[in-house]
Amino acid sequence: MSYPYIQARNHGGTQTTVRRLVIHGTVTPCDRGWARRVANDFHTTTRDASAHYVIDPGEIIQCLTERTIGYHAPPNTGSLGFELCDPQRGPSARWRDADHEAMLRRAAGLVRARAKAWGIPLVKLSVADLRAGRKGICGHSDVSVAWRLTDHVDPGTGFPWTHFMNLVKGEDDDMPDYVSVGVNGTQRVAPNTWTHVNWDREFADAGHQHADEGGWSVLNGPARFSLTVGLTIRGLPPGTEGQVRAVEADRDDAGDVQAGRVAEFVASSGDT
Ligand SMILES: [Zn+2]
Repeated sequence: MSYPYIQARNHGGTQTTVRRLVIHGTVTPCDRGWARRVANDFHTTTRDASAHYVIDPGEIIQCLTERTIGYHAPPNTGSLGFELCDPQRGPSARWRDADHEAMLRRAAGLVRARAKAWGIPLVKLSVADLRAGRKGICGHSDVSVAWRLTDHVDPGTGFPWTHFMNLVKGEDDDMPDYVSVGVNGTQRVAPNTWTHVNWDREFADAGHQHADEGGWSVLNGPARFSLTVGLTIRGLPPGTEGQVRAVEADRDDAGDVQAGRVAEFVASSGDT
């Protein structure tokens, strides 16, 4: 997996191993577009500030190769910095809103993958663990307390460590029970011909931790779909009998066809 890359301007030399994955907060809004803005700031800043990844609810931007020492939480060597877009103020409950949740899930998947790549166990490190040189995941605040080289307290006391670590470990079900989709506006269904219906509207499903992202970006595995469509047939003489059935076909595999049950109807006056 590779991510959009915006090179950070300031960084150290080369690191050959990674022991710590360090979570940060950016002090920006938690909104789409901010990962790019923060990355662009790392690209141009004269400050000694950089991180390997910046994550917002919509995307991940990489700013350093993992073998480059970042300037994020000294002593930096042997660590990767993950910046999560968050204002670092306000009620802790903000971490449970849809944008934060989407960002946490995105970040958790990234952290899991990078931990696997570097042979890092999926554990939250204490300050004592850090000082003992154990491998794992921690916050910038933990690094600050362990070595006292910065006074940064991000990602903050409200950061939902238990939930985040469960996401990293894959223990909080990542997959929605179902996804509700529908059609955007009206699509014309011509007689005697196949019509492709575009299920291009995805309904928010906060109860199943599935935010409406206007597409499929949060789905990276199987999910049950619930499809809803209203069909209006005009111009049928009253009393006309008909049958309707939904057939689901895989666009990439013409042999994979599943037919729904046949619904019978009798046209009354007006639209059916
Ligand atoms: Zn930080």
